Amino acid sequence: MYGSIVMGDSSLKSYVLDFFFPNRCPFCGGFIPYNDLCCEECFSEILWADEHICPQCGKPKRPHCLCKEYPEYSLCASAAYYSGIAKEGIFSLKFKNNLNAAAIFGQALRDKLSEMGVIDGIDLAVPVPMSPKQMRIRGYNQAEELAKHLTKGTNIPVRTELIQRRFSKTAQHSLSGEDRKRKAAQTYFTELCGTPLSGMTVLLVDDVLTTGSTLNACSKLLLQLGSERVICAAAATV
Ligand SMILES: [Zn+2]
Ligand SMILES: [Zn+2]
Repeated sequence: MYGSIVMGDSSLKSYVLDFFFPNRCPFCGGFIPYNDLCCEECFSEILWADEHICPQCGKPKRPHCLCKEYPEYSLCASAAYYSGIAKEGIFSLKFKNNLNAAAIFGQALRDKLSEMGVIDGIDLAVPVPMSPKQMRIRGYNQAEELAKHLTKGTNIPVRTELIQRRFSKTAQHSLSGEDRKRKAAQTYFTELCGTPLSGMTVLLVDDVLTTGSTLNACSKLLLQLGSERVICAAAATV
């Protein structure tokens, strides 16, 4: 799997850019060839999702999955466990401008959704949005980068204008249970009216699946806009 997944961009632009911004492994931070995505050792340490992950909600079956909470989405595919080296990769993706992890997890998610037999039925992909303020600070939305890589080679368009996020000072992870649900419902919104997504199957993409509150709030909006089914994909699951 390593050989097929870690080959990055071999373009001349990428080669030249490497002189100024040397390519680094998103997991250990070590220097790597300009057209690789990470080092082989790190890749082999990623804890990919296995049979202990619920195929329906994407959470580890133990202590418990989210299925009994009746999420709005019909299923969620997770690529890896949010632990060890995968956690480092997500951190680099969010805070170190290292987008290699988006390519690695995006491709893994594409393979996973194909294996699950659902990728062909997807009409469009929607990344979980960031607020305009967060976007200005970071310069990119990691969920959008994941969605771009996930849909590479398919004709699934990535749509970023359907749902939006308000700026909030409280970080989701600092809240628990009900507060998190309520907060997520207030944070995401849509400016669209009617049912422009009527009958569509939408793929909602995020970096980390924690309590499912974010995916649930965004799925609700997509269903409100007429989607028939929302399928989620997360790079890693807690
Ligand atoms: Zn490494
Ligand atoms: Zn489940």
